[in-house]
Parts: sequence; structure tokens; C-alpha cells
Amino acid sequence: MEKIKCLIIGSGPAAYTAAIYAARANMNPVIIEGLQPGGQLTTTTDVENFPGYPEGITGTAMMEDLKKQAERFGTEVRWGLVTEADFNQKPFKIKGDPGIDLEADTVIIATGATAKYLGMESEENFKGRGVSACATCDGFFYKGKDVAVVGGGDSAAEEAHYLAGLAKKVYLIIRKDYMRASKVMVERVEKTENIEILYRHTTKEVLGDDMGVTGALLHNEEIGEDVKIDIDGFFLAIGHTPNSGPFKDYLDTDEVGYIKTIPGTSKTNVPGIFACGDVQDSIYRQAITAAGSGCKAALDVEKYLAAQ
Ligand code: NDP
Repeated sequence: MEKIKCLIIGSGPAAYTAAIYAARANMNPVIIEGLQPGGQLTTTTDVENFPGYPEGITGTAMMEDLKKQAERFGTEVRWGLVTEADFNQKPFKIKGDPGIDLEADTVIIATGATAKYLGMESEENFKGRGVSACATCDGFFYKGKDVAVVGGGDSAAEEAHYLAGLAKKVYLIIRKDYMRASKVMVERVEKTENIEILYRHTTKEVLGDDMGVTGALLHNEEIGEDVKIDIDGFFLAIGHTPNSGPFKDYLDTDEVGYIKTIPGTSKTNVPGIFACGDVQDSIYRQAITAAGSGCKAALDVEKYLAAQ
């Protein structure tokens, strides 16, 4: 059976940064890309907050650059999806599609997290053209415009507040008659003049044309009527799902499924298994923090292998 020294699962900024470091340290890394090569950044438009790109860059182009950089030093990138792992025995066993069946001395899990969407067809149609799940990434493009944020948790409160500093008006769409966010965040949102909180509202459809989003059709659950709002941007902040499914039986995770790492390191509770990027970070979730944690993971692997 094929045995890999350093297997990296995922293909976002964390995975590629880990690969660049691991390859340059002669650890012959192999990446298994996952279902969405390039990760979450490929669903956004321009990335303007990653240091080193003074003019900004599209998420897709940035991920292609990172991939090329990893390959330049000898990383082997394979398409495929890891579906099963056995971390009880060494070397570790990894299985997946199509036909993945291999062993690894070390594994870096960089599978990311998936933003939750409402699941409407219209929302899917306008992804990257007005529909976004990341205000920090895309908010800048809505300077002086009207936008909506869906969700009532801390993320939604934080994103609405952030967008209020850029946009003319922010609608905060909340399905219940209260916000789940912490008290301090709720107060901050309530005190912001250009945020209008729409409690007990749900979204029926995102409206738009060839240019992108132009509005949303909401349902006011209280009075049982539909209302239309005119907006240019529709932001989802209804939570993320960490992609830790195949590893959960072996690794410590929090209640949502984020992999726990030993603070300040990428080490999990299983020696030889490391995690970096959004799959272990529910707080920062930025490309640059993911890249930094990928670097740490490769350095941790190097030390681990040297000690074996
Ligand atoms: P949460 O799970 O806390 O909140 C999700 C929100 O989205 C809830 O208001 C929920 O509504 C709503 N929602 C979920 N599904 C739907 C749907 N289908 N339609 C409409 N609304 C929906 O996620 P967050 O990302 O906000 O936070 C995750 C964790 O991260 C939390 O522990 C949070 O405290 C933490 N966090 C902390 C921050 C900070 O301290 N600065 C910043 C951001 C996050 P409902 O309430 O009705 O279920």
C-alpha cells in the first residue's frame, strides 16, 4: 500500500501554505484537494486584505498561485475526497473517492469550514454576484449601498455592525423575535442608526438581474405578509459547519465539530495528526490566519518526524 510521509487534506490557504513549507523541508507532501479545490476563497470575488497584493486579486487566482507555489517545490496535488480515516494505528489509514486507500506517517487536516446558506435557488444563482457569506471579505464592495444580513448570532451582529460602517443601510433579518447574540453585541447593533432590525422575518427569495442582486423578498411572520426590500448585497451569517466529519471519532472537537488543537500549536490529541485553518478556528476565519496556521502545522510535522 502507498505510504506518504506528510499527507495534507484540503486545498485552501492553510493546506497550500503547509505544503509549501513541508515541500521545502523535503517531506514530500501529497495534497488531497477535496470537493472544492481552492476552498472557500474560490466562492468570493476579489481578495483585498491578503498582504502582498496591493491591487487585490480574485480568490480563484490567489489559490492558483498558492497551488503553483506548492507544486514548484514538489508537492503532489491529487483530486479526491477523503471519507474515512483510522487514526488508531500507525501508519494512519486514509480512504476516500476515487479509490483513495493509503497510509500516512503524518496527516495535516486543513479541510476548512463550509458557510451555511439558506438553500434557495435564487441565493445560489447570485453567489459571488451580491450573495456572500463573508462581510469582511466582500463588504468593501458595498460602500454607500444598501445590504441585508441574515442571522441573529454573534457573527450576524458583528457583520451587520461592520457593514454599517461601509454601507448606507443594513437590514438585519432575524427569524425569531430576539437575537441569540451576546448582550453587548445586541446593544451595539440596536444603537447603530443605519441598521434596521427585522425580527420575525424570513427570506423567500433573493431578487436580481444580470448585474447581480437588486433586492430580497421577505416574509413578515408576525403579520403574515410579504415585504420587498431593495438591496445590492445579501450576506449570510447563519453559522459554519467545520469539515471534520471523517476524523471526529478520533479527535477532540468542540460541540460544533471544530477540531481542538493544543493552544499555540497545530497538534491534535493524536500525536502525528495536525490541524490548521478554519477546521480548527471558529473565530478568525481569515485567509491570512489560515495560511499562518498552515505554516505552523508544517513546522510541527517536521519536528514530530525528526523526533521519531
Ligand atoms: P450561531 O449558531 O450562534 O447563530 C446562527 C444564527 O443564524 C442564529 O441566530 C440562527 O437563528 C440563525 N439561523 C440559522 N439557520 C437559519 C436559517 N435557516 N434561517 C434563518 N436564520 C438562521 O452562529 P454564529 O456564526 O453567529 O456564531 C458561532 C459561534 O461563534 C458562537 O458561539 C458565537 O458566540 C461565536 N462568535 C463569537 C464572536 C465574538 O465573540 N466576537 C463573533 C462571531 C461568532 P436561531 O437563533 O433562530 O437559531
